[in-house]
Amino acid sequence: MRLTRKVFTDLAIWMVAFGLGVGLLFPLFLVVLGVPAAHVLTPGFFAACLTAGAVAGTVNQALARLVVGSRLRLLAERMEFVAANLRDSESFDHTRCGPDQCRIPEDSDDVIGTSARAFNGLVHALAESYRTEQAVQSFSDLMVSRIELGPLAEEALQHLMHDTGAAGGALLLEEEGEMRVCARQGLREDQGFACGDQLRLAMKGGDIRLLQIPEGLKVDGVVMEFRPLEVFIVPILYKEVTLGVVVLASATPFPEGTRTRLEIFRRALSLALRNAIAHDNLQRLAALDPLTGVYNRRFGMQRLNEEFSRAVRADLPLAVLMVDIDHFKRINDTYGHLVGDRVLVKVARLVRSLLREGDVLLRYGGEEFMVILPGASCHDAKTLAQRLRHAVEDLVVTHGEQSFRVTVSIGAASYPEMNADTQEQFVHAADERLYRAKQSGRNCVVAA
Ligand code: GH3
Ligand code: MG
Ligand code: MG
Repeated sequence: MRLTRKVFTDLAIWMVAFGLGVGLLFPLFLVVLGVPAAHVLTPGFFAACLTAGAVAGTVNQALARLVVGSRLRLLAERMEFVAANLRDSESFDHTRCGPDQCRIPEDSDDVIGTSARAFNGLVHALAESYRTEQAVQSFSDLMVSRIELGPLAEEALQHLMHDTGAAGGALLLEEEGEMRVCARQGLREDQGFACGDQLRLAMKGGDIRLLQIPEGLKVDGVVMEFRPLEVFIVPILYKEVTLGVVVLASATPFPEGTRTRLEIFRRALSLALRNAIAHDNLQRLAALDPLTGVYNRRFGMQRLNEEFSRAVRADLPLAVLMVDIDHFKRINDTYGHLVGDRVLVKVARLVRSLLREGDVLLRYGGEEFMVILPGASCHDAKTLAQRLRHAVEDLVVTHGEQSFRVTVSIGAASYPEMNADTQEQFVHAADERLYRAKQSGRNCVVAA
């Protein structure tokens, strides 16, 4: 049926030829119907019929061009535009593809309408895939740019909430069988949140779950500032080990495709979280004394440096206590090194329990601890030192059938009461006072 390289030219030829054919046969048809041949089989009548056939063929093909051709031209133009968009940008730029450039009216129930629907669907899918690609890219960039666990968790949650349109969310990490909330937004409180059965179930299965919450039902263990309609629970796994879970809640249904995007995001998140957790553990190991779990000397002195500079700069009080266990060597000699270790752990724990948040306890060496007290005056330091001394005095250490007690001597120094120019002078003063406490019989505090 193809005559030329152009479909509409073929159509024009076929239509005009058909018109001419009809014009040619029409006089004969009239003869069959009984019209006298003398009237119709004349050159003039033939010419009239052929002209009418040719005109009908031409008009038909013009109408086809007008009705069908305009639609096809629109489809062709928009396809070209999309193709050029794909060629020009590295990926599909949906911002350049509004309804005026990339949409075709879907107003017929035929093959033209089907083509329009298919084309619009294709453009929509391209735009979606572009948006997902962009979101995944920026999420991945964010993930590789953060190594600290806290900020990573906060930013990852914020990003996920923004991307999914969630109004509330939380990121929880599993630590020694317990769930710890690392980041949360839009949630009223985290009490009871961590033990929600749904979280446990989702984490056990490892799959992303979508909970649709019927009106009037209280969400198990999840306390929101708003009434959630849908909640996504996204377990974060690394090599099949559960690291934690992300909870995203929305007061309206989540957009289509959210689950697919979350699947992609959680892959990037699991790797980043795994790195951040490892980093966190390393940081902790590098900062802590392995026996007592308090800060080690290196990290603790760094903290003192920071606190001392801050105190001098902002003219804030600061105190340090040097705490040394009395006759510790005797404990080792009498009960053995392991019992000595146990005493160190017990004393460190006891001292820690009597400090405020913000105070720093470090193991300065052997059986000597330093307490850094930001904001504490000389009087505060003395009071706390006596409290620590009494508490240690009351501590009973048992070893098999036997039990014994330990005591500590404490030297205290405080800024600005003490005129220290450097941190070393400050520590030296506390050390010197500790020495005097030892000299004056031990189990006492010297603060001046
Ligand atoms: P003083 O009252 O004058 O402080 O006497 P002391 O015996 O406590 O002090 P000395 O400096 O003579 O002895 C400290 C002892 O602490 C010696 C050392 O073996 C012991 N020691 C240091 N580190 C550890 C440790 O990690 N574990 C145990 N068990 N003992 C330790
Ligand atoms: Mg000692
Ligand atoms: Mg000592």
